Amino acid sequence: MIQKVRTLIAVSLATLFLFGCASNPDHSMKRSHGDIESCGSGDNCAGGPTRVVQRAIDTIVLANFPERAGLYKARMWKDSGQNFALTSTNPEIHISTTLYMALSWNELVAVMAHELAHQEENHPQISAGVNSTIWLADKASWLITPWLIFSPADELAKAAFSRHVEMEADILAVQYLENAGYTEADYLSLLERIAGMEGGTGCRVWCTHPHIDDRIQAVKERRNVLYVETNKKDFRTE
Ligand SMILES: [Zn+2]
Repeated sequence: MIQKVRTLIAVSLATLFLFGCASNPDHSMKRSHGDIESCGSGDNCAGGPTRVVQRAIDTIVLANFPERAGLYKARMWKDSGQNFALTSTNPEIHISTTLYMALSWNELVAVMAHELAHQEENHPQISAGVNSTIWLADKASWLITPWLIFSPADELAKAAFSRHVEMEADILAVQYLENAGYTEADYLSLLERIAGMEGGTGCRVWCTHPHIDDRIQAVKERRNVLYVETNKKDFRTE
């Protein structure tokens, strides 16, 4: 029994340590995306390519919320084949050079519209709030039933919440694109491009992003089509 408690304490401390690290965005980027390095001065990707990404960001910003011109910054990462674009609580939009190379200009603008939709809707802050709420609930229940801390239900709830947020961002991004003179077809072309990437089609339960078919349907119908969820906790965003 004592051995069990010791293991629990050790695991909890390790979790706290990892949780703490998440406050450093560069560490957390490297943790979730593996072998990547920020493009710095002297790197080719810090020059022209980063300026192109910045131009794609500014295209959406100027057409939709010009009062925030200059706020959102492009940040590129040298990777070893990973495709990612993301944004966090800072007004920065991160993209891997591999994904940048794979996209056409219109698709790049579509990615930036999606990430800017997360920013404008404060999704990173909301997600952080949900994560810490779940974390606190875990700690409280730990007093009664220690094994609840490892309960997969929370991961499932976080993933379901994340899928709703992704779909909201997709729908808003299409509006941003249209306001900037681009089309729904540009966004659908991006989704199809993602579907063609390894593991890009997504899934419906244990995943942070909706299945690509659901995303395409949501964009075409302009509504969140994720109304069937398998978990008890419901973090619907509407
Ligand atoms: Zn997203």
